[in-house]
Amino acid sequence: MTLTDAIRSWDALLAEVDAAAMAILTRAEADCARLLDLKNLDPLPMSNAWTAVNTQLLGLTTKVEQTWREKIQPVLEEAEQYDDRDRERQKGDALIRRLETNRERLEVGLFGVAAQRLYAQLRADLVRDVRCTQCFAALPVGDRLFRARQVACPQCQAVNAFAPDAKVTALEYFCCHHLARLETRALYEAWLAAEGKMRRSADDLAAMKAAERALEAYARAYLAAKIAIVPEYEATFDTDLKGKMAFFYEELGRSTAWRP
Ligand SMILES: [Zn+2]
Repeated sequence: MTLTDAIRSWDALLAEVDAAAMAILTRAEADCARLLDLKNLDPLPMSNAWTAVNTQLLGLTTKVEQTWREKIQPVLEEAEQYDDRDRERQKGDALIRRLETNRERLEVGLFGVAAQRLYAQLRADLVRDVRCTQCFAALPVGDRLFRARQVACPQCQAVNAFAPDAKVTALEYFCCHHLARLETRALYEAWLAAEGKMRRSADDLAAMKAAERALEAYARAYLAAKIAIVPEYEATFDTDLKGKMAFFYEELGRSTAWRP
Protein backbone atom coordinates (compact mmCIF):
# COMPACT_ATOMS: atom_id res chain seq x y z
CA MET A 1 0.00 0.00 0.00
CA THR A 2 1.35 3.45 -0.90
CA LEU A 3 1.30 6.34 1.52
CA THR A 4 -1.57 8.07 -0.34
CA ASP A 5 -3.59 4.87 -0.45
CA ALA A 6 -3.05 4.31 3.27
CA ILE A 7 -4.26 7.78 4.19
CA ARG A 8 -7.19 7.52 1.79
CA SER A 9 -8.37 4.19 3.19
CA TRP A 10 -7.85 5.48 6.76
CA ASP A 11 -10.07 8.50 6.05
CA ALA A 12 -12.67 6.21 4.48
CA LEU A 13 -12.68 3.94 7.54
CA LEU A 14 -13.05 6.88 9.94
CA ALA A 15 -15.98 8.26 7.93
CA GLU A 16 -17.59 4.83 7.81
CA VAL A 17 -17.20 4.29 11.58
CA ASP A 18 -18.54 7.77 12.29
CA ALA A 19 -21.67 7.10 10.22
CA ALA A 20 -22.18 3.61 11.70
CA ALA A 21 -21.90 4.94 15.26
CA MET A 22 -24.38 7.70 14.50
CA ALA A 23 -26.85 5.13 13.13
CA ILE A 24 -26.42 2.89 16.20
CA LEU A 25 -27.04 5.77 18.59
CA THR A 26 -30.06 7.05 16.68
CA ARG A 27 -31.65 3.60 16.70
CA ALA A 28 -30.77 3.07 20.36
CA GLU A 29 -32.47 6.31 21.34
CA ALA A 30 -35.78 5.12 19.91
CA ASP A 31 -35.44 1.51 21.14
CA CYS A 32 -34.40 2.22 24.72
CA ALA A 33 -37.15 4.73 25.42
CA ARG A 34 -39.68 2.20 24.15
CA LEU A 35 -38.32 -0.62 26.33
CA LEU A 36 -38.77 1.10 29.67
CA ASP A 37 -41.52 -0.82 31.44
CA LEU A 38 -43.36 1.60 33.69
CA LYS A 39 -46.12 -0.83 34.53
CA ASN A 40 -43.72 -3.29 36.11
CA LEU A 41 -41.31 -0.54 37.17
CA ASP A 42 -38.63 -2.43 35.33
CA PRO A 43 -35.62 -0.65 33.80
CA LEU A 44 -33.88 -3.94 32.98
CA PRO A 45 -34.96 -4.45 29.32
CA MET A 46 -33.74 -0.94 28.57
CA SER A 47 -30.48 -1.49 30.43
CA ASN A 48 -29.88 -4.72 28.51
CA ALA A 49 -30.52 -3.00 25.19
CA TRP A 50 -28.05 -0.30 26.15
CA THR A 51 -25.41 -2.88 27.05
CA ALA A 52 -25.79 -4.31 23.54
CA VAL A 53 -25.34 -0.81 22.08
CA ASN A 54 -22.15 -0.36 24.09
CA THR A 55 -20.81 -3.63 22.76
CA GLN A 56 -21.50 -2.54 19.18
CA LEU A 57 -19.76 0.79 19.72
CA LEU A 58 -16.81 -0.92 21.35
CA GLY A 59 -16.53 -3.09 18.25
CA LEU A 60 -16.23 0.05 16.11
CA THR A 61 -13.56 1.54 18.37
CA THR A 62 -11.60 -1.70 18.28
CA LYS A 63 -11.80 -1.72 14.48
CA VAL A 64 -10.32 1.79 14.32
CA GLU A 65 -7.50 0.94 16.73
CA GLN A 66 -6.71 -2.36 15.06
CA THR A 67 -6.68 -0.94 11.52
CA TRP A 68 -4.38 1.84 12.67
CA ARG A 69 -1.95 -0.53 14.34
CA GLU A 70 -1.90 -3.21 11.68
CA LYS A 71 -2.39 -1.38 8.39
CA ILE A 72 -1.87 2.38 8.55
CA GLN A 73 0.85 3.05 11.09
CA PRO A 74 3.33 0.56 9.50
CA VAL A 75 2.98 2.23 6.06
CA LEU A 76 3.57 5.73 7.45
CA GLU A 77 6.53 4.60 9.52
CA GLU A 78 7.99 2.66 6.65
CA ALA A 79 7.90 5.91 4.64
CA GLU A 80 9.40 7.73 7.68
CA GLN A 81 6.53 10.26 7.59
CA TYR A 82 6.37 10.87 11.32
CA ASP A 83 4.45 14.16 11.20
CA ASP A 84 1.85 12.54 8.96
CA ARG A 85 1.75 9.58 11.30
CA ASP A 86 1.09 11.76 14.35
CA ARG A 87 -1.57 13.78 12.54
CA GLU A 88 -3.38 10.70 11.23
CA ARG A 89 -3.31 9.02 14.61
CA GLN A 90 -4.82 12.13 16.18
CA LYS A 91 -7.70 11.93 13.71
CA GLY A 92 -8.46 8.42 14.96
CA ASP A 93 -8.13 9.41 18.61
CA ALA A 94 -10.41 12.41 18.09
CA LEU A 95 -13.07 10.23 16.49
CA ILE A 96 -12.96 7.69 19.32
CA ARG A 97 -13.26 10.46 21.91
CA ARG A 98 -16.18 12.01 20.04
CA LEU A 99 -17.99 8.64 19.89
CA GLU A 100 -17.47 8.17 23.61
CA THR A 101 -18.77 11.66 24.39
CA ASN A 102 -21.85 11.16 22.19
CA ARG A 103 -22.48 7.77 23.76
CA GLU A 104 -22.23 9.21 27.24
CA ARG A 105 -24.46 12.19 26.43
CA LEU A 106 -27.15 9.94 25.08
CA GLU A 107 -26.84 7.61 28.08
CA VAL A 108 -27.25 10.47 30.55
CA GLY A 109 -30.29 11.81 28.68
CA LEU A 110 -32.01 8.47 28.07
CA PHE A 111 -31.44 7.02 31.52
CA GLY A 112 -32.07 10.35 33.24
CA VAL A 113 -35.49 10.65 31.65
CA ALA A 114 -36.21 6.97 32.39
CA ALA A 115 -35.29 7.55 36.05
CA GLN A 116 -37.56 10.61 36.17
CA ARG A 117 -40.47 8.57 34.83
CA LEU A 118 -39.85 5.62 37.17
CA TYR A 119 -39.42 7.88 40.18
CA ALA A 120 -42.66 9.72 39.39
CA GLN A 121 -44.46 6.39 39.01
CA LEU A 122 -43.05 5.10 42.32
CA ARG A 123 -44.18 8.22 44.12
CA ALA A 124 -47.65 8.03 42.62
CA ASP A 125 -47.95 4.36 43.65
CA LEU A 126 -46.84 5.06 47.21
CA VAL A 127 -49.12 8.07 47.63
CA ARG A 128 -51.99 5.84 46.60
CA ASP A 129 -51.00 2.72 48.58
CA VAL A 130 -49.28 3.75 51.81
CA ARG A 131 -51.92 4.48 54.43
CA CYS A 132 -52.02 5.25 58.15
CA THR A 133 -52.71 2.08 60.15
CA GLN A 134 -55.00 4.05 62.50
CA CYS A 135 -57.14 6.22 60.23
CA PHE A 136 -56.22 5.15 56.66
CA ALA A 137 -55.22 8.65 55.62
CA ALA A 138 -52.51 8.83 52.96
CA LEU A 139 -49.03 9.11 54.48
CA PRO A 140 -46.52 11.62 53.09
CA VAL A 141 -43.78 9.16 52.11
CA GLY A 142 -43.24 10.39 48.55
CA ASP A 143 -40.20 12.56 49.24
CA ARG A 144 -38.10 9.89 50.94
CA LEU A 145 -39.32 6.60 49.66
CA PHE A 146 -36.24 4.38 49.41
CA ARG A 147 -35.44 3.82 53.09
CA ALA A 148 -37.40 2.58 56.10
CA ARG A 149 -38.38 5.23 58.65
CA GLN A 150 -41.10 6.45 61.02
CA VAL A 151 -43.77 8.66 59.47
CA ALA A 152 -46.29 10.71 61.46
CA CYS A 153 -49.82 10.70 60.07
CA PRO A 154 -50.93 14.23 59.09
CA GLN A 155 -54.53 13.41 60.10
CA CYS A 156 -54.35 11.59 63.45
CA GLN A 157 -50.64 12.06 64.31
CA ALA A 158 -50.16 8.31 64.81
CA VAL A 159 -46.56 7.30 64.09
CA ASN A 160 -46.37 4.67 61.35
CA ALA A 161 -43.42 2.48 60.46
CA PHE A 162 -42.79 2.82 56.74
CA ALA A 163 -40.62 0.30 54.88
CA PRO A 164 -40.32 0.22 51.08
CA ASP A 165 -40.86 -3.18 49.50
CA ALA A 166 -38.07 -5.03 47.68
CA LYS A 167 -39.17 -3.74 44.28
CA VAL A 168 -38.82 -0.12 45.41
CA THR A 169 -35.51 -0.80 47.16
CA ALA A 170 -34.15 -2.38 43.98
CA LEU A 171 -34.75 0.88 42.11
CA GLU A 172 -32.83 3.10 44.53
CA TYR A 173 -29.51 3.01 42.70
CA PHE A 174 -31.05 3.41 39.25
CA CYS A 175 -33.15 6.41 40.24
CA CYS A 176 -30.51 8.15 42.38
CA HIS A 177 -27.62 7.67 39.99
CA HIS A 178 -29.39 8.60 36.78
CA LEU A 179 -31.36 11.50 38.26
CA ALA A 180 -28.13 12.88 39.71
CA ARG A 181 -26.33 12.45 36.37
CA LEU A 182 -29.13 14.26 34.53
CA GLU A 183 -29.21 17.10 37.01
CA THR A 184 -25.44 17.66 36.92
CA ARG A 185 -24.78 17.16 33.24
CA ALA A 186 -23.64 20.76 32.64
CA LEU A 187 -20.95 20.35 35.32
CA TYR A 188 -19.94 17.03 33.82
CA GLU A 189 -19.52 18.64 30.38
CA ALA A 190 -17.42 21.37 32.00
CA TRP A 191 -15.19 18.68 33.52
CA LEU A 192 -14.84 16.95 30.12
CA ALA A 193 -13.82 20.26 28.55
CA ALA A 194 -11.27 20.96 31.30
CA GLU A 195 -9.93 17.43 31.04
CA GLY A 196 -9.55 17.77 27.25
CA LYS A 197 -7.66 21.04 27.71
CA MET A 198 -5.39 19.39 30.27
CA ARG A 199 -4.66 16.52 27.91
CA ARG A 200 -3.80 18.86 25.03
CA SER A 201 -1.46 21.00 27.15
CA ALA A 202 0.71 18.26 28.57
CA ASP A 203 2.20 18.89 32.03
CA ASP A 204 0.64 22.34 32.41
CA LEU A 205 -0.05 22.70 36.14
CA ALA A 206 -2.69 25.44 35.69
CA ALA A 207 -4.67 23.18 33.34
CA MET A 208 -4.38 20.30 35.81
CA LYS A 209 -5.66 22.49 38.65
CA ALA A 210 -8.56 23.70 36.51
CA ALA A 211 -9.48 20.09 35.68
CA GLU A 212 -9.27 19.16 39.37
CA ARG A 213 -11.64 22.00 40.29
CA ALA A 214 -14.06 21.03 37.51
CA LEU A 215 -14.12 17.38 38.55
CA GLU A 216 -14.61 18.23 42.21
CA ALA A 217 -17.46 20.64 41.39
CA TYR A 218 -19.16 17.90 39.39
CA ALA A 219 -18.55 15.19 42.02
CA ARG A 220 -19.91 17.38 44.84
CA ALA A 221 -23.03 18.31 42.88
CA TYR A 222 -23.62 14.69 41.86
CA LEU A 223 -23.38 13.47 45.48
CA ALA A 224 -25.58 16.34 46.71
CA ALA A 225 -28.22 15.40 44.12
CA LYS A 226 -28.23 11.83 45.44
CA ILE A 227 -28.49 13.07 49.04
CA ALA A 228 -31.56 15.11 48.04
CA ILE A 229 -33.27 11.80 47.20
CA VAL A 230 -31.73 9.57 49.91
CA PRO A 231 -30.57 11.75 52.86
CA GLU A 232 -28.81 8.70 54.39
CA TYR A 233 -26.02 9.15 51.79
CA GLU A 234 -24.90 12.27 53.69
CA ALA A 235 -23.08 10.03 56.18
CA THR A 236 -20.63 8.78 53.54
CA PHE A 237 -20.20 12.04 51.61
CA ASP A 238 -16.47 12.46 52.31
CA THR A 239 -15.62 8.86 51.43
CA ASP A 240 -17.79 9.02 48.31
CA LEU A 241 -16.13 12.27 47.19
CA LYS A 242 -12.68 10.72 47.63
CA GLY A 243 -13.86 7.71 45.65
CA LYS A 244 -15.03 9.84 42.75
CA MET A 245 -11.74 11.79 42.61
CA ALA A 246 -9.42 8.81 43.07
CA PHE A 247 -8.90 7.94 39.36
CA PHE A 248 -7.91 11.56 38.65
CA TYR A 249 -5.22 11.71 41.35
CA GLU A 250 -3.98 8.29 40.38
CA GLU A 251 -3.52 9.47 36.79
CA LEU A 252 -1.91 12.79 37.78
CA GLY A 253 0.40 11.02 40.20
CA ARG A 254 2.34 9.82 37.16
CA SER A 255 3.02 13.38 35.98
CA THR A 256 6.14 15.05 37.36
CA ALA A 257 4.52 18.48 36.92
CA TRP A 258 1.63 17.73 39.30
CA ARG A 259 1.79 19.50 42.69
CA PRO A 260 -1.26 18.75 44.83
ZN1 LIG B 1 -53.76 8.54 60.78
